[in-house]
Amino acid sequence: MARKTQESRRLQQRAEAVIPGGVNSPVRAFRAVGGDPPFIVRGEGPRIWDADGNEYIDYVGSWGPLVLGHAAPAVVEAVVAAARKGTSFGASTPAEADLAEVVLSAFPAMEKVRFVSSGTEATMSAIRLARAYTGRKYIVKFEGCYHGHADALLVKAGSGVATLGIPGSAGVPEEFAQFTLALPYNNADAVDQAFKKFPGQIACVIVEPVVGNMGCVPPASGFLDALRYITSRDSALLIFDEVMTGFRLAFGGAQEVYGTAPDLTTLGKIIGGGLPVGAYAGPAEIMDLVAPLGPMYQAGTLSGNPLAMAAGLATLTYLRDNREVYGRMERTAATLVTMVASAAKDAGVPLTCNRVGSMFTWFFTAHPVTDWESAARCDVDAFGRFYRAMLDGGVYLPPSQFEAAFLGTEHAEEDVRQTVYAARQAFAGIKAARAGTATS
Ligand SMILES: *Cc1c(COP(=O)(O)O)cnc(C)c1O
Repeated sequence: MARKTQESRRLQQRAEAVIPGGVNSPVRAFRAVGGDPPFIVRGEGPRIWDADGNEYIDYVGSWGPLVLGHAAPAVVEAVVAAARKGTSFGASTPAEADLAEVVLSAFPAMEKVRFVSSGTEATMSAIRLARAYTGRKYIVKFEGCYHGHADALLVKAGSGVATLGIPGSAGVPEEFAQFTLALPYNNADAVDQAFKKFPGQIACVIVEPVVGNMGCVPPASGFLDALRYITSRDSALLIFDEVMTGFRLAFGGAQEVYGTAPDLTTLGKIIGGGLPVGAYAGPAEIMDLVAPLGPMYQAGTLSGNPLAMAAGLATLTYLRDNREVYGRMERTAATLVTMVASAAKDAGVPLTCNRVGSMFTWFFTAHPVTDWESAARCDVDAFGRFYRAMLDGGVYLPPSQFEAAFLGTEHAEEDVRQTVYAARQAFAGIKAARAGTATS
């Protein structure tokens, strides 16, 4: 049954008159999938409700942060208690070191951390720091990896840029991106060649250790170790952008799961528990280059904001004290992804399922997806049809083939059952549409 959309459509039209595209982040637009984006008015646990009263199982989780689900009582209480004491001081508060200690306890290779207000700020600052530390200009990133919207990082940048089919971004002078080398993900040889071509000139390699921003793409066996080896060999820094994977794949992120330690780690999303927090961390030797101790400048009026610290601390302490949730999320996600895969098989719809822990993507292709080139070959029209049918079936997924979906601690068996049921209907629709085009 089609969902009601009248009120969301009215709100979208109103927003479009005053906000570009009606959205404050392009990934929220429904251009890639079609249909009316639901305007959300409330969330609780794994579910959200829109302005027309439709209820959805949410697999976006605010694009990653809400691992504990919506309006998690511990987080809400912590934020309210902090707000009662004042929302911002622009001076140090005890909560900042509280959160720093918990964050560092998760990452043994990191000794100091600086909080900022978004993942974009975290990666931008980490790169500035890598350049300051090494005195070098070039940086290596990978095609399809998204590291926020700083000028030098908007090169073959995955996520919304890929969804909208934009190669880079207008407004970035060539000169600002000339030191960014974009290489194919999972291709260690390409990295080795780049280091041979620019010896002693590459400051860092920045990578999503598990990619979420071209859809979920795991690192090939040995890829992260090869990056570790090559960067160390040339005295360049290795940056793991764990804005998405930190505290999601394990308490200690992808570096815990894969056993490879980077030099710098960038964080965001979950560490803010739904409020704006980003961070970059590393050994004291490198982090002490940051002002006021050193010459690398980075600042923020609302950095370490008390409400954001409170939400982050409530989220991380819950995860730290309930580590069994990682195993549970993994099992629930595995069941969900496998059951949807077999529903696709039954309907004869080619589907490739990539999943790491509670991150996953259903790619509409028969071929393995290991990098941007293989991701880009997916049937995005089939994805759009699937997407709209899932929405009608009460399932809210990221509105793009090139984004990862997330499951949280609150998703239960009944959510999985409803999702699989909706997927069966959706695949039947795709199969019928294909039969229709074949005969007409
Ligand atoms: C979301 C994301 C960012 C950007 O974070 P914002 O808070 O949106 O600025 C950077 N890197 C990765 C890997 C991300 O997933």
